[in-house]
Amino acid sequence: MKISRHTVLSAGIVAGLILGGIVGEFLFSKHGGEVPDAVLNNYKFFGDTFFINLLKMVLVPLVAASVIVGVASIGDPAHLGRLGGWTVLYYFATMVIAVLLGVALVTTVAPGDPHGDGSGIGAEIRSQGEATYDEKIKGSKRERMEEKAAAGRRGVGGALWTSFQNITKQMIPKNPIQSAAEGALLPVISFSLILGIALTTLGERGRPLLAVFESLFAVIMKLVDWILWLAPFGVFCLATASIAKIGVAQLFGPLAKYMLVVFLGLVIHAVIVLPLVLSIFGRTNPYRYMHQMRQALMTAFGTASSSATLPVSIDNAEELGGVSRKSARFVLPLGATINMDGTALYEAVAVVFLFQCYGIPLGGIELAVIVITATLAAVGAAGIPSAGLVTMVIVIEAVNNSLGGDKTLPLAAVGIILGVDRILDMCRTATNVWGDAVGAKIMSRVTTR
Ligand code: ASP
Repeated sequence: MKISRHTVLSAGIVAGLILGGIVGEFLFSKHGGEVPDAVLNNYKFFGDTFFINLLKMVLVPLVAASVIVGVASIGDPAHLGRLGGWTVLYYFATMVIAVLLGVALVTTVAPGDPHGDGSGIGAEIRSQGEATYDEKIKGSKRERMEEKAAAGRRGVGGALWTSFQNITKQMIPKNPIQSAAEGALLPVISFSLILGIALTTLGERGRPLLAVFESLFAVIMKLVDWILWLAPFGVFCLATASIAKIGVAQLFGPLAKYMLVVFLGLVIHAVIVLPLVLSIFGRTNPYRYMHQMRQALMTAFGTASSSATLPVSIDNAEELGGVSRKSARFVLPLGATINMDGTALYEAVAVVFLFQCYGIPLGGIELAVIVITATLAAVGAAGIPSAGLVTMVIVIEAVNNSLGGDKTLPLAAVGIILGVDRILDMCRTATNVWGDAVGAKIMSRVTTR
């Protein structure tokens, strides 16, 4: 029996994740929960350098070539417009479903109100959380959070307007080369999109350049094939570092119920909602497709970065998942930057949880504010680790703005959930990538019709 490359690789990645969990837990207990940074950094060094950096190295040329070739193969701008329209509709519809699911679960279970009397989670946990925020959130991260918070403070209208401006600015980059150098994907995507459309109008004269991008795409995918062999080692190092920092015991601590709600929401969304959407609109067996996308899903889990996972997603979708090239090359890059179902769900759950912790009741209007701003915040989150935690402050401040009164949630409350964020980030990133993959499969039907 011939065992395929993909089978070996997938088994290797599973082994890497499991072994990482075991070694991480071992380190955690060996150091009594205080694993020195030097030890964690060694694992992070290997995982980042020999896996994440390699994936990021190919990311910008891959996205550019992928979108240009994808758009050019679609050809007709009207067809592209239709595909774009359906894609964006799919992204928003699934993100809103995810947020609604999160809100329903967190308000029903009320993990932030353990006594069930609206008094919150206990002053000690709250002040510890606030101290953690002051200690851990510093420098540029703090600045980014303050900037997002300011947008939220302007209310839903203000947050919408600021997000619109941010996205539009990125979509019309004044210097696409600079954006590429900074690794910003949205400007690269929109520039490639315009270039691809223009190329199709040139006919014969556009062929040579198109052939260059086709060749660039092929060679980058060859590199991705090679890089994937490092995935088992990469996810092992990254999982070790993540678990060594948190320890499995956290799963049973005071935040257990909160983590469970996030986890349950993500599982329901990934295993029931999205498969249902896929079987209805994509006429595909969703679980077989999930199996075909397994390397991408595990890479997302291991790296907590949708952007870094993108090369693997494109590889799996085209090689194993039977996704049309037109769809994979256009829908996946766009999805990795704007479609984040897991993040949207997480932000909604986290924000309601924090308000519960402080005993601040939320009404229907506040919940509606959460649905709108959590979707926006997820769109604005970059596909990198803990991006969701940063953009979440938009939601907090928009709710504070809606409450109006003097009982508002301090931003520092975010410190309460900081310690357990990485593990939830791994789970929500896998959901994000799965949402993109489902979208690409559905849009395959639109492109081949
Ligand atoms: N890490 C997530 C991603 O890359 C974003 C987030 O923090 O929620 O998709």
